[in-house]
Amino acid sequence: MVTAKVHGVNDFIQEISAMPGGEKINLCIQCGTCSASCPNANKMDYTPRELIALARAGMRDEVLSSNTMWLCLSCYLCTVRCPRGIVPTYIMHALEHLSMRHYRTRPRVRTARLYRLFSDTVHAFGMIPRLGCMMAYFLQTNPLKALRMIRPALGLLTHGRMPIKAHKLEPEPMKQLKAILDKAEAMGGL
Ligand code: SF4
Ligand code: SF4
Repeated sequence: MVTAKVHGVNDFIQEISAMPGGEKINLCIQCGTCSASCPNANKMDYTPRELIALARAGMRDEVLSSNTMWLCLSCYLCTVRCPRGIVPTYIMHALEHLSMRHYRTRPRVRTARLYRLFSDTVHAFGMIPRLGCMMAYFLQTNPLKALRMIRPALGLLTHGRMPIKAHKLEPEPMKQLKAILDKAEAMGGL
């Protein structure tokens, strides 16, 4: 019984450690600096520190079904402050990847849908239509919420932070971006 549990712990931690950015997870000293730095920690099922602790304890289901990694903003505050040189941001990305590979994401967490929409659009049209992507995202997930986003969207448009016209990439950068997306897909990504 004990042997099976330990085996499970090792399997999960090894899986994370084998992913880009997950290599240093075992160096964590549970100081909590990442959680104290994280601007979204209060919305997460588990703070970044707790998520790492659960992962190291082999709690695969709890970790991969949580909303924590999906609410990561990739702001890197945890990363620049971690005293052990760990990159919790990358651990979040690795866990998103594993969650999609093994569990599919929970319906209430829609980040994965946005990722997919973005990569499919870029792949199909060779451009990044930010406004179109956001409209398609809300239509696919929660059209009513789109109404609440009209005001901030107008603010972004007015200040030129969300151009109406799609940004068309030059052929060479487009080729490189498609290669990255193809590689991510081949690795079992979103
Ligand atoms: S800041 Fe680094 S060492 Fe501290 S709990 Fe977070 S990941 Fe672990
Ligand atoms: S990178 Fe993610 S986990 Fe780290 S502080 Fe920012 S939001 Fe939190």
